[in-house]
Amino acid sequence: IKMPTYLSAQKKLLNDPKVWLITGVAGFIGSNLLETLLQLNQTVIGLDNLSTGKKDNLSEVQSLVSKKQWSKFQFIKGDISNLKTCKVACTNIDYVLHQAALGSVPRSIKDPIRTNKSNVSGFLNILQAAKEAEVKSFVYAASSSTYGDHSALPKREHIIGKPLSPYAVTKYVNELYADVFQKSYNFDSIGLRYFNVFGKRQTPNSSYAAVIPKWVDAMVKNRQIFINGDGTTSRDFCFIENAIQANILAATTTKKSALNQIYNIAVGDRTSLNQLYDELKKIIFQQTSIFHEKLIYRDFREGDVKHSQADITKAQKLLGYKPTHKVQDGLTKVAIWHLERNI
Ligand code: NAD
Repeated sequence: IKMPTYLSAQKKLLNDPKVWLITGVAGFIGSNLLETLLQLNQTVIGLDNLSTGKKDNLSEVQSLVSKKQWSKFQFIKGDISNLKTCKVACTNIDYVLHQAALGSVPRSIKDPIRTNKSNVSGFLNILQAAKEAEVKSFVYAASSSTYGDHSALPKREHIIGKPLSPYAVTKYVNELYADVFQKSYNFDSIGLRYFNVFGKRQTPNSSYAAVIPKWVDAMVKNRQIFINGDGTTSRDFCFIENAIQANILAATTTKKSALNQIYNIAVGDRTSLNQLYDELKKIIFQQTSIFHEKLIYRDFREGDVKHSQADITKAQKLLGYKPTHKVQDGLTKVAIWHLERNI
């Protein structure tokens, strides 16, 4: 019997540990990647400017791994908009997982210059530094926002529309630069178009917070929840474990045809905001007997795509990606994580 691809990739890393660079390591996705890689006894260099990321996220990872595993982590506080910092961070690295960026569509509408600095200039710096350091692989966080105004569902990688926000422009530019680095310098990379990733350590405390942490936090504290629009807006919510799997598979792939590609990373399902609210309400009620009914509908949000759902066939075929968690499995875990922090 053939071993599942993810399991065999993990075994291989355990037997032959590598040196990884995670940019954005103090953020939500970065700190979860860090946790998994340290648990696989890898050596990790982490770079972050602590703009939206937090030292607390790193401390939490420290509490979840062994002393020996934690000793294999080195943190660099620095900004990817500084090329020299990127060069230092890329020295002697095998695999790069580039996650650092300023997320959030509304933030980018408010301050496109700042978003561009991290997401475009910063991206180009890290790409250039990784190329010069001749790293073995370069995987970066792309985004489903690149589908923009194209209404086709489910989304397939090669059919995109026009971006609907400055953030979406920056994420699309990442893909263009990565592609051109292959053509100009033969530098290989893989872009992962994440679809609404959620999980522990995703911050609820920002005006730019994502819907799941914001709602779970509000429910746990029995506070008001707002739905932007009529609640029929839908997303392919992707639990963090699936995104971690995709990163590890992409970084370690030995398949030539899998390189220089963009992949949808999601589950392939669609959940409306109304369904999400009902689902979370049920989970929170089961855990706490808080019955949440503080819901207010307001206007649709500017720059938001109405519906989103991924076709994940490409990642399944070329990377061996197989999501292990459906939305509901992930929501329960997230609710418990928030509850534990609110006692
Ligand atoms: P996050 O804000 O929690 O993490 C981003 C991290 O990058 C933070 O720790 C931040 O301090 C750091 N950072 C930002 N600008 C930097 C800079 N100039 N120099 C160094 N560090 C910098 O967000 P996240 O949800 O973990 O997102 C990680 C990546 O995934 C981002 O590239 C984001 O655009 C992308 N993405 C996320 C989602 C999602 O649903 N969470 C969806 C699509 C794409």
